[in-house]
Amino acid sequence: MADVLHHHVGGRRVPGDAAPMGDVTNPATGEVIARVPFGSASLVAEAIRSAAEAQPAWAAVTSQNRARVMYRFKALVEEHIDELAERVSREHGKTLSDARGSVTRGIEVVEFACGISQMLKGEFSADVGTGVDSHAARHPLGVVAGITPFNFPAMVPMWMFPMAIACGNTFVLKPSEKVPSCALRLVELLEEAGAHPGVLNVVNGDKVAVDTLLADPAVQAVSFVGSTPIAEYVYRTGTANGKRVQALGGAKNHMVVMPDADLEQATDALMGAAFGSAGERCMAVSVAVTVGNPVGDALIERLRPRVESLRIGPYTDPDADMGPLITRQHYEKVRGYIDLGVEEGAELVVDGRGFSLQGYENGNFIGGSIFDRVTRDMRIYKEEIFGPVLSVVRADDYEEALGLVNDHELGNGAAIFTRDGDAARDFSTRARIGMVGVNVPIPVPVAYHSFGGWKRSLFGDHHMHGPEGVRFYTRLKTVTERWPSGIRQGAEYVMPVLQ
Ligand code: NAD
Repeated sequence: MADVLHHHVGGRRVPGDAAPMGDVTNPATGEVIARVPFGSASLVAEAIRSAAEAQPAWAAVTSQNRARVMYRFKALVEEHIDELAERVSREHGKTLSDARGSVTRGIEVVEFACGISQMLKGEFSADVGTGVDSHAARHPLGVVAGITPFNFPAMVPMWMFPMAIACGNTFVLKPSEKVPSCALRLVELLEEAGAHPGVLNVVNGDKVAVDTLLADPAVQAVSFVGSTPIAEYVYRTGTANGKRVQALGGAKNHMVVMPDADLEQATDALMGAAFGSAGERCMAVSVAVTVGNPVGDALIERLRPRVESLRIGPYTDPDADMGPLITRQHYEKVRGYIDLGVEEGAELVVDGRGFSLQGYENGNFIGGSIFDRVTRDMRIYKEEIFGPVLSVVRADDYEEALGLVNDHELGNGAAIFTRDGDAARDFSTRARIGMVGVNVPIPVPVAYHSFGGWKRSLFGDHHMHGPEGVRFYTRLKTVTERWPSGIRQGAEYVMPVLQ
């Protein structure tokens, strides 16, 4: 019997109301492992109310004591990391070691949130005028909401709520309906760590829940991570309703391989970045741009046997390099893109469509694929596939390669592999991309920097976590005060200036 999941509102598990239910499946077997209730508008409104009621008391807790809750939360997540990784893998399909790594990246954001007092302490200027001081500090917004995608069930929620809550906000999280159970466990651990009931609420659901969060005037800000069309929708709707929004979207990350690159290093990097997590990462490399035909030929020669011998299996196989795709529907979509690439005239060097795994015939397994001689007009180049499909585009020179990176409408990450410092520096400077790697294929910023793309990979002004996360979840107040009160200046009718 599949588990029936719940929501978590005001410190309590709330069973699904009469709303519809969705299936949570194990992608390796196709088996329904849980049923998730889709929260109605009234259930989501209740969660927002509970967050609003909890917020003044939470904001009144000193930042140091909020940080202490984060320290305890970090310890609890570490203690339960195996359980959390298992939840990630069972619902998402990625290997256990990959899942563990992603939870660890989430913990690193909690570690940053432990230092929140340092980020909030503000600025002070004595004597901005005679007997006048000025100080500025960042204040929480109130209730904020987070809407997260299926591919990082623990890490992406942890990009958001630890930062927001450490800043003194309360939070309503709507995780992906495909992978809901991690968020439900995280809220229990946060409350065990000492967060007041209502500080973090988890509502499961779909568009109804999202639209309720976007419309409710009590929600001050919305953090979103997901596909570009929904990111744009969330940004436009949220900002039209007067909210602050950061909406991170899809990606088509290019890796430029220069003629002087260490090809063994570049091949290793591409294998992990294109096929790790079955390509279901927003920082996956899905396009390799080779500069000069000899590099293209040499790279294909190295990649082909490696992709053909990828070990693909369920998360319970400790030797698997990658697992299945999230759903049957997504499997059909990725397969459809491989059919399309053939129709569009790209050269299919390795075809993953024939892959099947004995004993797991109902799983969403697909083999790794490589297309060579992909061109910029093809849909397999322009659109995000989000699967283990690598396109190789051959450029004649560096400028053409950079032009491809810059002309693509998505601008999440990009990397250059080279031994030439000039080329690397030029690429870092001129690439219209949010996160750039130099001989680093997946340049995910560490927690004390901020994560985010450019162009249609991010709608809004702020990246996530790190200093940008603090700015997003707070607003600035500047106080100007006159002491001692004994100084009498009389009425002033002209603009006050420094004296
Ligand atoms: P998605 O856009 O389908 O869903 C994301 C969230 O939006 C989910 O919680 C979902 O329930 C909700 N949603 C879906 N349809 C909606 C609608 N019509 N109206 C309102 N809400 C809706 O994304 P996904 O398939 O879960 O995740 C994969 C996508 O996320 C990929 O495009 C990937 O590149 C992107 N992603 C981006 C980043 C980043 O940092 N830029 C990180 C991870 C994933």
